[in-house]
Amino acid sequence: MLKNGNEGSFDVEVPSFWKTSLFDVEYAYEHAEKATDKCIFGYSAGGRPIYMLAYGPKKARGLANYSSALGAHDRTCYAASGQTPTVVIIGAEHAAETEGVAAIMNLISLLESGVDLAGNTDEVLLNAVRNVRVVLLPIANPDGRARIVPEAMVGLTGKELRYWAQGTWSDGSLCGWPECKRVHPVLGRTEFLGGYYNDDGINVMHDNFFHPMANETQLILDLCEDEAADFVLHLHGGSNSMGDLLQPYYVTREVNQSIYDLSARCVHTGEREGLEFGTPRALPEVAKGENPPTFNLVCAVHHVCGAVSVCYESNECVIDEPGRHLTHAQIVRMHMILFAECFAFAAEKENKK
Ligand SMILES: [Zn+2]
Repeated sequence: MLKNGNEGSFDVEVPSFWKTSLFDVEYAYEHAEKATDKCIFGYSAGGRPIYMLAYGPKKARGLANYSSALGAHDRTCYAASGQTPTVVIIGAEHAAETEGVAAIMNLISLLESGVDLAGNTDEVLLNAVRNVRVVLLPIANPDGRARIVPEAMVGLTGKELRYWAQGTWSDGSLCGWPECKRVHPVLGRTEFLGGYYNDDGINVMHDNFFHPMANETQLILDLCEDEAADFVLHLHGGSNSMGDLLQPYYVTREVNQSIYDLSARCVHTGEREGLEFGTPRALPEVAKGENPPTFNLVCAVHHVCGAVSVCYESNECVIDEPGRHLTHAQIVRMHMILFAECFAFAAEKENKK
């Protein structure tokens, strides 16, 4: 029943501006003419290409990596100040969470043609993006995306979302969240490998960051380091989440403060359009306890480049769970607000240095 996805309303009409497939991304990549850089940045465990597109001038790197620059008490040894700030946006680290892919595809359309995939322009975003370099990985986990049949979770049930997102154990029961994380890698333990994983059963959010198991993890770390990223937006879906910027542990107070400030900006701008973002999250305490907060990919990215690295949890519109039920258009629009605010904030921060 779940395999065919028919329990909820899998037949919910997906609007034409919601493009999230591997083919859609390949097509956009092939036809991108205004990108200042584009390449196949690497390949997944299953041998699928991971596409990268960038708009704006790339930073020059210094002679030290980030850790050594901080060891020298001078982060400019890694990347000098006064350069165009860089925002990296990553979609589908978890491949059933297609909301971010849809948003990135609309952003690419806007940057290429001046209008998004619904035919609308966005002067605020287009003005803001002029002051940054934006680097896009529309689908970081193409192996997972290849397995996911629904284009969106909008209108599906919670069970269906769990099926596609985390898959099923060998006995056919749902892996569920967070219980799916009790085994890692999960390959050989599942009947249906959910969208969380690459073809080796690795969830990039919980790789071993000092000796990555997944090529996808290494590529993300390499990209952010190479770009000397100032902001990295990891676009995830969180069931009927309000559109939250989660606070990572194991980063500096300044990073947590910047996430709070970016979140507050999104709340403010969203209010003007009747779109409600989640309340800005308080700055976390020092990590402690027998089961301390996980050091995940969001944290790891910060430590290779110093970026404000943050996970955005989009609403996915699960029909039988409480909370907000947003439309495809509202989900994309909230991402666009996040992007525009992040671009403007990155430029303001650079000007204050
Ligand atoms: Zn996720």
